[in-house]
Amino acid sequence: MKLDIDQHRLSGELDTLGAISQEPPPVVTRVVFTEADLRGREFVKNLCREAGLVIREDAVGNTSARWEGQDPDLAPVGTGSHIDAIPNAGRFDGTVGVLGGLEAIRALARAGYRPRRSIELLIFTSEEPTRFGIGCVGSRLLSGLLDPDVAAQLKDREGITLDRARSAACFVGPLSSVGLTAGSYSAFVELHIEQGPLLERNNVPVGVVTAIAAPASLRIVIEGEGGHAGTVLMPDRHDAFLAAAEIALAVEASARSSGSIDTVGTVGVCEVFPGAVNSVPSRARIEIDVRDIDLARRDEALKKIEAACAEVMARRGVTAHSELVNADPPAQCSPHVVQALVHACETHGLRFERMISRAYHDSLFMSLIAPVAMIFIPCRGGVSHRPDEYASPQAIARGTLVLAEALADLAGK
Ligand SMILES: [Zn+2]
Repeated sequence: MKLDIDQHRLSGELDTLGAISQEPPPVVTRVVFTEADLRGREFVKNLCREAGLVIREDAVGNTSARWEGQDPDLAPVGTGSHIDAIPNAGRFDGTVGVLGGLEAIRALARAGYRPRRSIELLIFTSEEPTRFGIGCVGSRLLSGLLDPDVAAQLKDREGITLDRARSAACFVGPLSSVGLTAGSYSAFVELHIEQGPLLERNNVPVGVVTAIAAPASLRIVIEGEGGHAGTVLMPDRHDAFLAAAEIALAVEASARSSGSIDTVGTVGVCEVFPGAVNSVPSRARIEIDVRDIDLARRDEALKKIEAACAEVMARRGVTAHSELVNADPPAQCSPHVVQALVHACETHGLRFERMISRAYHDSLFMSLIAPVAMIFIPCRGGVSHRPDEYASPQAIARGTLVLAEALADLAGK
């Protein structure tokens, strides 16, 4: 099979989609269910129709474009990503996986290939958490990880529920109908820009993702005793901020002592009350993000943080209330899908590197219902979620070529 990726056309389509934005170019802002998001969806759906694919949309707006296989009763092979974009973003996050996926299908069709299993291009709703506060709403619902009733009541800043927003965007029907059973896809492959610097730095064109890290986040509110910064003597203090500071150091220590470089812990939020220079802090709130590709190791780090918290509380005479805000399971990619990607790289003489995804993606949730793997391509400086995010047409074409080859492989099995 002679596969030719139409690099010129694909780049043009990425540019056109990038210009569909709530702000003038080069800024891409395409928040879910806004007019820009809906126009972006129309653009992609029209391209899919032109390619002869059959479009289906579910109740939350997850869209599939299907290339019917010779044996349509077999579970299809899926590929795809998202087209929503955070405020002030770039042109390539998510869109490379959607338009690259479409071009992979077109290239296969041009090469005369006919799949045994159907191939479906998926466009997931609201991968970004911008509007409703949690990411991957569409793929969470597909995988059954997010309760449909909870999803329906998610609210944006204006108090508009997800349920109302999706109806206004003409996505109707019960949200409970979105969930799929395990085995609905025989495999799922997502093409994505790396959003990190490693491939570019190592001058490697393709990353084969073998695991996807997932975050757990904790919110801890510490109550101590406030007072005058001059008159409360040091032995009498119950400083809430100092307790928070010790817990923050425990976060670092627990990640560093996990035994793996893949455990990372961050305290990205620290609010101090009353926040006056001459006042002993009476309350502090910190938010903690702990990530790993191994669930047991991540939970072990969380346990160490909780233990440190208890110790600090007792010693400093403060109280702390900790709440697990979110804890998604990390995913191991499926060996046979990874093997299909490795084989595709070898077939086309492309160097590759096995790597893990440290950001999360829809594939994380798809892994709950299908064997998954991801293809990463380099992006300039590792920059993402910025208007100057950039992946070269050549880099995108290489990733698309690997995707096409792997889809053919997986859809023939
Ligand atoms: Zn993305």
